[in-house]
Amino acid sequence: MDSRGEEAKKPRTIIWVAEHGFQGWTCSQCEWNYPLPTLLNDAEAKSAYDRLALGKFREHACEGHAPRLGAVDSQSFTARIRKLVKQGFKPRDAVDLLLQEVELEYRGQPKVLEQARAEGQDFLRRVREGLI
Ligand SMILES: [Zn+2]
Repeated sequence: MDSRGEEAKKPRTIIWVAEHGFQGWTCSQCEWNYPLPTLLNDAEAKSAYDRLALGKFREHACEGHAPRLGAVDSQSFTARIRKLVKQGFKPRDAVDLLLQEVELEYRGQPKVLEQARAEGQDFLRRVREGLI
């Protein structure tokens, strides 16, 4: 009967954010977050962390946190990969495309390219494991 109420209730999603001061998972609807511990470098440990974050995400109540204002994370390489996938690219192609773009945009800045590669690898690992 009341279709307006349904429309307002968009499903919340878990979003990976990698920005200057923060790396970790966040909620699309509220300020809930689960930061990546520092020194977490190997893929297995990261996967364990991702699974833990997903569990915590499912348990949290958005009502208990401040509502999220504005879009989360629009600048990171992960966000750009996500955008390409939304446009219809397969995850692997999206990562390849991003790396090509980054190579052009950040010519002579190997550290930036390294960061993009790392984010691309993490993205594909999460896709493989069905986390996103
Ligand atoms: Zn939330």
